[in-house]
Amino acid sequence: MSPAPPRVLTVAGSDSGGGAGIQADVKTMLALGVHGMSVITAVTAQNSLGVQGAWELPVEAVRAQYRSVVDDIGVQAVKTGMLASAELVEAVAALLDGTDAPVVVDPVGVSKHGDPLLAASALDSVRAKLLPVATVATPNLDEVAQLTGVRVENESGMREAARAVLAYGPRWALIKGGHLSGDAVDLLTDGSEEHWLRAPRYDNRHTHGTGCTLASAIASRLAHGDCVPEAVTAAKEYVTGAIAAGFALGGGIGPVDHGW
Ligand code: PLP
Repeated sequence: MSPAPPRVLTVAGSDSGGGAGIQADVKTMLALGVHGMSVITAVTAQNSLGVQGAWELPVEAVRAQYRSVVDDIGVQAVKTGMLASAELVEAVAALLDGTDAPVVVDPVGVSKHGDPLLAASALDSVRAKLLPVATVATPNLDEVAQLTGVRVENESGMREAARAVLAYGPRWALIKGGHLSGDAVDLLTDGSEEHWLRAPRYDNRHTHGTGCTLASAIASRLAHGDCVPEAVTAAKEYVTGAIAAGFALGGGIGPVDHGW
């Protein structure tokens, strides 16, 4: 019998195409040596061309999955992704309010194809209920604009974005600057320490699942016992490798690769 690996839980939506969401999360967790578990919040019919349909699960089903996992198996870290509605955001935030495990919140808004993964009416709940329970919140620049109204045009604007996100209560903010041109630069800060993380930009359009992968990699490293800056640095390296190795699948945007 081998010793149990650290256990990590993703609370997120399913991507039938296997590139993002729960499927990307669990692949990342396997690659990083933790036991991956899932609370599915929504099911999407999705492929490389976009999201063709999405169905939320009842709040009761989400709560029951969480209780089953936490009460018996236990978790060393949690990651949240697509939460779909205000009702689900509030229910998940209430569950996570009681956990000692670090919580990585990827405040997923819309997909790369522009498909909505969170109702506009849920933004207030994300700000008021979900961000305050986050150990690390990982918004990209579109999500920063949606949540805080701060529009970032260049690297220096990322400090103001981080301040605006931290005002909602997460312990750390990771502002992902990948949508700017040039190197992929992210800013990690808790309001006093600042860590600028830089990676080369790969000329590869097959980047489906990037945000899910990064947040899951952070949660996996936290479960191994890394502190937040160590976990985020290792996760950025992991996702950079996965982007460099991303491959074409179907007729649109292919996924990042977890087997690199
Ligand atoms: N589908 C699901 C279920 C997701 O959770 C996400 C992102 O979090 C996406 C799709 C979008 O992935 P991307 O924007 O990388 O294409």
